[in-house]
Amino acid sequence: MIADVAFDAPVRHSFSYRIPDGWSLAPGQRARAPLRGATRVGMVVAVRDGADAELKPLARLVDAEPVLSGAQLDLVNWIAAQSLSSVGSTCAALVPPPASADTEGAVSRARGVPGRSAPRKPELLVGAGREKRVLERLETAPGTALVIAADVETAARWAQRLAKIGRAVRLDSGVPDDERAAAWRALHDGAARLAAGTRSALLAPLPPSAMLVLIDEHEAAHKPPGAPRMHSRDVALERATREPLALLLTAATPSAEVWWRAESGLIDMAAREPGPWPAVSIADTRGILRREPLTPPLSRAIRETLAAKRRVFLGVSRLSSSLACDECGAVVRCAACAIAFAYSRAAARLVCRVCGASHPLPDTCAACHGRRLTPFGWGAERVEHAVRRRFPDARIARWDPDSARGARGEAQRAAAAAADVVIGTRGALRLFGPAALGLAAFVAPDQLLRAPDFRAGERTLALAWAAAERVAADGALIIQSQNPGHYAFEAVAKQSLHEFYRPELKFRAELGYPPFRRLAVVTTRARQPDETRRLAEAVSAALRGRKDLTVYPPVPVRSDRTRRIVAKGDADLPRQLDEALRDLKTPGAGRGIIDVEVDPVEWPF
Ligand SMILES: [Zn+2]
Ligand SMILES: [Zn+2]
Repeated sequence: MIADVAFDAPVRHSFSYRIPDGWSLAPGQRARAPLRGATRVGMVVAVRDGADAELKPLARLVDAEPVLSGAQLDLVNWIAAQSLSSVGSTCAALVPPPASADTEGAVSRARGVPGRSAPRKPELLVGAGREKRVLERLETAPGTALVIAADVETAARWAQRLAKIGRAVRLDSGVPDDERAAAWRALHDGAARLAAGTRSALLAPLPPSAMLVLIDEHEAAHKPPGAPRMHSRDVALERATREPLALLLTAATPSAEVWWRAESGLIDMAAREPGPWPAVSIADTRGILRREPLTPPLSRAIRETLAAKRRVFLGVSRLSSSLACDECGAVVRCAACAIAFAYSRAAARLVCRVCGASHPLPDTCAACHGRRLTPFGWGAERVEHAVRRRFPDARIARWDPDSARGARGEAQRAAAAAADVVIGTRGALRLFGPAALGLAAFVAPDQLLRAPDFRAGERTLALAWAAAERVAADGALIIQSQNPGHYAFEAVAKQSLHEFYRPELKFRAELGYPPFRRLAVVTTRARQPDETRRLAEAVSAALRGRKDLTVYPPVPVRSDRTRRIVAKGDADLPRQLDEALRDLKTPGAGRGIIDVEVDPVEWPF
């Protein structure tokens, strides 16, 4: 007997081994096998008859019984094909690490083919109290439920909530490996009916008609770096259809992809009474000299909020990458792609991140002929300085969870948790629960709105909406902007998501952005700039050979040893890319590295 084993490596094919006499082994089980001079853990993807004396034998079993069923292996194959990841890497990311003692404490056999009941439409929960509604559903439903969160911290919070309903287990990396493996087993055996985890729990064994819950489906963190490069939402939607499972999605501001599905009738979205909402005002900062980050209305609101002994959040941004007019607020955009040009001070040029168009810096604004075109920037430090000068007695703290880690990060977080005024980036909003603030304000969100990313509008909406949800109903949200009429701000002011998605989907449809077409970023790297250029040109030519793809020219990224090509395609984009690049990606060609990311969520700046 021969076993085909897939390893956590960027190779497409599996490796064949002889199954030692007396072993019983099935696909979906992990084994140790010799590979390039070491013994490594791999997933058995096929077992077949045959005797090849040349083949090396498997070294050791890891799981006493399969951790993945045949249906789950099929799903793994689908994920790998859609994301151009290897099957082995996909398994490694979506199955918990083996328990410390191999085969002891191994996961028991996965269930057989689940009963075929009709798939139910996924449901999207938006609006106030959506997480409470999830808990109510889980309380009243007797079946098994798995809650997937975007990060370990959120998964831990959900595990605590679930524990109030019944025995709940954790499947994320926040708990020891043995505990994860035991949780996987408990879920399968029915010893636990409630589980929480992150992306690595997406394939956890669930009985037919169990409920899968994806918290904050719009979060980019649901697509972490590393294989398989696929958003958890896409895995969850596919799994729910195949098994079938009841799928519940929550979002404050759904992704355009999910909103589109809901509008098309593929996802149910229950209409809800709008919850409490703060007073939202938008302060027009066009034509205002940018020496002072606080407009008079914002200064006044901070003073009043502090006097009432309530808390203030001031949102700032770390980006500084595009050029805008100080007079009229217009941002300099690529005419063909409609996204903001990226501003390079060093090169004194504007470059389009999609099509690669490059222009010298203009002298005047095309919209108003004003002569003050400046890169935008109110960083946290400058804002803090201005706030301290005006409010010397307030406890003020800066907090950017993405830039400060370790002990220093912890100290900053503690200071922010106790401060009257927190000046922070998007991640800092997580410090505050619903309605915890008296005032939230954005100093200059235009920077986010003008980011060279077609999702800039969606990101801005998500940020402003998340802030509004954290302000008490008798509090205020103030948005200072040079684009006061932007539909993202209108939507927040009116507490109406429709107000945003109507124009946003029109824009996406017109320019062929997701959800209407799919995007991929192909990155080429080599040791020498010349090699990189040749490789990028070969990739570009191969892609241009497919009539269904729109291919933009290669653009250097950061250094001239890396070049990036953006391609647009339709539903079959992964297959198109795979076929076009198969020959170029053959290992050992010594040409460099070709990296493909399908459906990118974070634009690679
Ligand atoms: Zn362009
Ligand atoms: Zn202008």
